[in-house]
Amino acid sequence: MFGGTARRGLPAVAAGVAVLALIAGCGGGTQGEAQTVGNVSGLPVTHFDSGLKPDAPKPDLPVQDLTDSPEDTIAVAAIADVSDYWKETLPASFDGQPFEPVKKLLSYDPDGTPAEACGTSTADAAMNAFYCPPEDLVAWDRGQLLPFLRERFGEMAVVTVLGHEFGHAIQYRLGEKAGVDKQTKTIVKEQQADCFTGGYFRWMAEGRSKYFTVSTSEGLNEVMASLFFIRDQAGKSATDRGAHGTAFDRTFAFQTGFEKGAAECASMSLDNIEPRITEQPFDKKDSGEGDERVSSELLGYLKDSLDQAFAGAGVQGPEIVEGSGACANGPDTAPASYCPDDNTVNVDLAKLKELGRPVDKEAEISGDAGAPLGDFAALAEVASRYTQGVQKGVGASLDNSNAGLRTSCLVGAWAAATNTEGNRLRLSSGDLDEAIAELLQPRSLIAADVNGNQVPSGFARVESLRKGYLEGSGPCSEQYG
Ligand SMILES: [Zn+2]
Repeated sequence: MFGGTARRGLPAVAAGVAVLALIAGCGGGTQGEAQTVGNVSGLPVTHFDSGLKPDAPKPDLPVQDLTDSPEDTIAVAAIADVSDYWKETLPASFDGQPFEPVKKLLSYDPDGTPAEACGTSTADAAMNAFYCPPEDLVAWDRGQLLPFLRERFGEMAVVTVLGHEFGHAIQYRLGEKAGVDKQTKTIVKEQQADCFTGGYFRWMAEGRSKYFTVSTSEGLNEVMASLFFIRDQAGKSATDRGAHGTAFDRTFAFQTGFEKGAAECASMSLDNIEPRITEQPFDKKDSGEGDERVSSELLGYLKDSLDQAFAGAGVQGPEIVEGSGACANGPDTAPASYCPDDNTVNVDLAKLKELGRPVDKEAEISGDAGAPLGDFAALAEVASRYTQGVQKGVGASLDNSNAGLRTSCLVGAWAAATNTEGNRLRLSSGDLDEAIAELLQPRSLIAADVNGNQVPSGFARVESLRKGYLEGSGPCSEQYG
């Protein structure tokens, strides 16, 4: 976020920073009966333990250096499972194209005896998983990456990464049908692979997998969190060599595959993804890597930009008042609460300052639940409470899960509106990912109703935020009415 004079200059310098950083606290399944509240792309919202089925078959696949570790067990089941998915999907979606299994599979430990893969030593491939086209090889780091993913996010994170790498193998099999050749930009190949992964997870969520079950709430939350983890860092350009996309871009691709299937993924090209890709370098005017200090002044800018974004609603926007963060008579969703009695948003500035400190990558990687997520995370929380006032003004309900989705949709619409001329706030590189990181936190209000009740499906939360960002506030009331 940049608080200052509005301008959207095109940046000259790209800061090429390496990957990695993640959000805390989305791992693990929850106990309980399946239940339905709303839906996830047409599927019911379900709650149950996600992961390898107790009665899953034992795959018979030739994997070099396979161990009997839990991670290798999940990895090899994921390869067998995604192969099953493509056995059905390739002929069905691509003119009868037969499925050919991947020729080589390799499990490696970067700290163990080095193996040679794709011309490099596995000792140099820590925290990685990859597909190598010349050898038709899928390889994964069972020593560091997979245990990390499994412990932090759950088994579905491991399946996500392998589903993605397998997606690259499919891409090479499709070749022309996916519009992929030697000139194809990395970002296109990555978007397709994330999208293919979404198609695979839909199939799993529909109960068609022999190996895994995934719930559409906590199970897909693990996927969302792992896509966030493997995002590019703020400041990268989508056209940089090796660009994989922001978390916003990666979740978009995954959800497209989940909703529309593999043929849609194969149609992704530079032409049709470029207009929506959010990955951009820092603006020359961005100070502190795009992060501003959360202050009374910044809250003033925020109020102005919210008033401007929702002027069309024709209602009196709430005032933002500094206090305890709770209402005197009404909701307490500190650090920010919407108070219907006097149409104000009460904020605890000290707490927001904490939350809005620049993203701390080390705290994220170590899994610190209190890791700061950047200025835009804090401002988006306040904006979510402001939109309660807008919703109340137009007579919408404030206390159900539709209200939660409408709220995140409106926050997305506001985020996009900050890009208009005359706004003293504007998005900087990484801001949307700060919103997604915050949105995936169990504490977040961005997709919560006036009482702070959060929509349980992270997938639905991310989708509604993006909808508002890309399409404006119109669909927010139509879709989540
Ligand atoms: Zn990839």
